[in-house]
Amino acid sequence: MTDPRDPRDPRRRLPAVDAVLAEPDVAALVAAHPRGLVVRAVRDTIEHARANGGAAPSEGWGAAVRARVQRLAAPSLLPLINATGVVLHTNLGRAPLARTARDAMARIAAGYSNLEYDLAQGTRGSRHALCRDLLVELTGAEDAIVVNNAAGALLVALSALARNGEAVVSRGELVEIGGAFRIPDIMARSGATLVEVGTTNRTHLRDYEGAVSDRTKLLLKVHRSNFEITGFTAEVSAQEIAGVAHAHGAASLYDLGSGLLMDLSPWGLAGEPTVAEALASGVDAVVFSGDKLLGGPQAGILLGARAAIDACRKDPLARAVRSDKFTLAALEATLAVYRDPERALVEIPVLRMLTEDVEQIRQRAETLHKDVGRDSEIVEGESEVGGGSFPGVKLKTWLVRLNPQQLAPDTLVARLRANDPPIIARIADDRVVLDPRTIFPAELEAVTRAVRAALDA
Ligand SMILES: *Cc1c(COP(=O)(O)O)cnc(C)c1O
Repeated sequence: MTDPRDPRDPRRRLPAVDAVLAEPDVAALVAAHPRGLVVRAVRDTIEHARANGGAAPSEGWGAAVRARVQRLAAPSLLPLINATGVVLHTNLGRAPLARTARDAMARIAAGYSNLEYDLAQGTRGSRHALCRDLLVELTGAEDAIVVNNAAGALLVALSALARNGEAVVSRGELVEIGGAFRIPDIMARSGATLVEVGTTNRTHLRDYEGAVSDRTKLLLKVHRSNFEITGFTAEVSAQEIAGVAHAHGAASLYDLGSGLLMDLSPWGLAGEPTVAEALASGVDAVVFSGDKLLGGPQAGILLGARAAIDACRKDPLARAVRSDKFTLAALEATLAVYRDPERALVEIPVLRMLTEDVEQIRQRAETLHKDVGRDSEIVEGESEVGGGSFPGVKLKTWLVRLNPQQLAPDTLVARLRANDPPIIARIADDRVVLDPRTIFPAELEAVTRAVRAALDA
């Protein structure tokens, strides 16, 4: 590379911003877009050329700036098609919402609402009252609050119930959930002192009993949501932990992770405790997510005994991690669907995808395979629940496998990602596979078109 101060260096001959702005194609863009946006696109385009050794864009300055304006003007958060078969995909936004939840959000977004206003009294109300009654009705808990997410709910509960005291946890449950969220770190931030008991694979009731002292404020149980421990193992049930806590005047908290409101074992989904089962163990409070198996918006739900939940509600951290009106609207609408479990299985997308008849999935696979035509076949495969729920459970599915002769799988998935809307596919055994379980019927046509274009390109 030559010295950029050398007058022969092509980077010295790059046009000035004003010169590019004066080009007729670029001037036309200024008429259709905010001037600041076009100026930024011009600067970025010149910078890009400089980084490329000073070569002018091969498509010409006008076209290069137009492409950049379009990219900058487009929203960065995009809807996409999930063809991975992972139902609760954290990177892809976890739970898609039911129609009624989407409608509720839109209704509240458009204007003012009684978010913190008591319509009967004409006085200030509390947003914590909004989903409370429904949660109590659906779970049988005495009381409930909703905050921003389950990590926040856990922080609030530890602060409210264990601050300036000790909280006892099994070494087998000191988990990392993902996104740098680790139980020991969150405990430290809550002001509780962590007391570890047992070993990674085995913890016994006597370990908890031996650790409890007059400094103990809380016994915590964490559901191992994203992995399984097998082999020589022992863990203490939530019921036994609640018993030890009660006997010593300490509180007990169960971090459930997923928040399953319905028993899904008839569909082969077993091993994940339901919220009702967790409460029946006698713990003072349970914590779970709104956007995992519950199938609602991102939220952290805390429910349980009146005194424990009231302490959480009054904790200053509850204000810091409170939920917004869109979340509360969507969560209320989602919860209302659970009053009719049959309706929940049909209308809540997560439940529908998890319990869908494999024959129906096969039909969508066949439609896709037939319409794509060449270079594809149908094979048996497995979908995943994802989102740290039902670890180890595999759901039987039918995949469309793409077998082009001349196209590397990495290139093919990249082309599908570049589609509008982007399509996220999986590579298994060095082949691109599409799992129709997470492809909605209304998306099939778009997937067909994108796959054909990607194979033809
Ligand atoms: C997912 C999960 C969390 C965190 O939930 P968010 O709603 O993502 O904050 C906490 N604990 C467990 C056990 C989990 O599985």
